[in-house]
Amino acid sequence: MRRSLIAVVAGFCLIADTSADARPNGAMSGSYAWIHTKQGSSRVIAWARPRFQGFINEVERSGYRVGAPGCLSSGHMQHSKHHWGGACDLFVQVARNRTRLRLPPNHMAIALRYGLIDGCMWRNPDCGHFEVPVGG
Ligand SMILES: [Zn+2]
Repeated sequence: MRRSLIAVVAGFCLIADTSADARPNGAMSGSYAWIHTKQGSSRVIAWARPRFQGFINEVERSGYRVGAPGCLSSGHMQHSKHHWGGACDLFVQVARNRTRLRLPPNHMAIALRYGLIDGCMWRNPDCGHFEVPVGG
């Protein structure tokens, strides 16, 4: 995987590139785009929008609620992909690995299909957290 060097100051990435598609150079910087669920909206880095929106649409089509999404945010631990819009908390995640809404049984397969990492996959699981597999 190609990675670009991007200065990170106190966990926040410098936003230098304003082009619509910042991949693969500057994967952690660029413009943002809105994603929508039936319950709310949030912003992600623009190139990742089709991934998150595709996942959300498929889950909603299958009859499950996604809840209001929590994506771009500075209120997460250092190095979190939330800082630059590369991660979303879905299904009303109320704490690490705790969601108020039930995830569809095939959520990992759907996430994979849309190029997302599902936090449920991790050894220290974080169900409800979804992120892109690039940019730190
Ligand atoms: Zn998260």
